Amino acid sequence: MSLLITNIGELVTNAPRDAVSVASPGPFEALTDAALVLDAGHVAWTGPAAQAPSADTMADAAGRAVLPGFVDSHAHLVFAGERGAEFAARMAGQSYSAGGIRSTVAATRAASNEHLRMNLARLAAEMLAQGTTTFECKSGYGLTTADEARSLAVASEFTPEVTYLGAHVVPPEFDGNVAGYLDLVCGQMLAACAPHARWVDVFCERGAFGADEARAVLAAGEAAGLLPRIHANQLGPGPGVQVAVEAAAASADHCTFLTDADVDALASSGGTVATLLPGVEFSTRQPYPDARRLLSAGVTVAIATDCNPGSCFTSSMSFCAAIAVRDMHMTTQEAVWAATAGGAHALRRTDVGHLGVGARADLVMLDAPSHAYLAYRPGVPLVAGVWRGGQRVNDGQLRSTS
Ligand SMILES: [Zn+2]
Repeated sequence: MSLLITNIGELVTNAPRDAVSVASPGPFEALTDAALVLDAGHVAWTGPAAQAPSADTMADAAGRAVLPGFVDSHAHLVFAGERGAEFAARMAGQSYSAGGIRSTVAATRAASNEHLRMNLARLAAEMLAQGTTTFECKSGYGLTTADEARSLAVASEFTPEVTYLGAHVVPPEFDGNVAGYLDLVCGQMLAACAPHARWVDVFCERGAFGADEARAVLAAGEAAGLLPRIHANQLGPGPGVQVAVEAAAASADHCTFLTDADVDALASSGGTVATLLPGVEFSTRQPYPDARRLLSAGVTVAIATDCNPGSCFTSSMSFCAAIAVRDMHMTTQEAVWAATAGGAHALRRTDVGHLGVGARADLVMLDAPSHAYLAYRPGVPLVAGVWRGGQRVNDGQLRSTS
């Protein structure tokens, strides 16, 4: 059954330049006084409202803005426990280090599959209600073969974008034996995890894994059929971005401390996205990544939440986009593009992040006339409706006719 959504004040399409078939999202593009037809789970038509074809049912957007659903390309959602006290201590002056991950590892290992599933279900629903229609989900709080494999199996019940992050930190039982843990991550653990995952990731950072270790993890993952992505240059300068580009990773995530050579490498990589996670800097009081430097150099930039119980426990893409605008000096158009099309590029997806004809009918309607309101009204719940695969999944405030 087709649906015409008409009287759209602003329709952000990011439509592919090659309109012949579904291709990667194009640059930011928005139509005013627009309409959109959804059919069989996909976008069938976009254009001026006055020229809209008829459809089986109709909804009146009453001048509201419609955007592609957010694509959150970086999240850690399989865990147990919480670290609110650690956050409070950090705000009182303690610094963030990778070691805090271990407390979540202990809680996750002790949790039942059902507990992990319920926690992820709650977070996934929270994301969807805020307009996130595609999200990536990593393991990395199990760090044993069995705990990583069950984490990924649970994640795969909620999203196809599942990432094996056995190389998150070295767990306590391998203290002083990083090589031993890497053998496990690249061997038995990988074999158990690869069937549940699409991606392999490594936390390349002081206190976690170095360049050669990261290369080994990504190479082993690729040999098992997984595609590489990486946590890079979050807490200080380091080799992560260079390792990402060498490995032709889909994304180098964080990119907070970059040298000119790192920026050049990303700009000339031909496909490695710089995924910025400004909620982390907000929640850890670290300096924000220099988005303008990356954009000026021609790097493809995505924004994601990094939703996790330690360094950043927001699931709100609109909040992250608002920070990107306010504190990283991205334009509202750049931020919205990075949170939709940018995320799609970071996940090598051509069917989401845009509303070109043939794209998946994943969209969010704002109770606002333009995308700029996401940053103009920070912290305000503006979602009036969400469609995923053409299905209305959140009724919000919208009064629809059908
Ligand atoms: Zn992360």
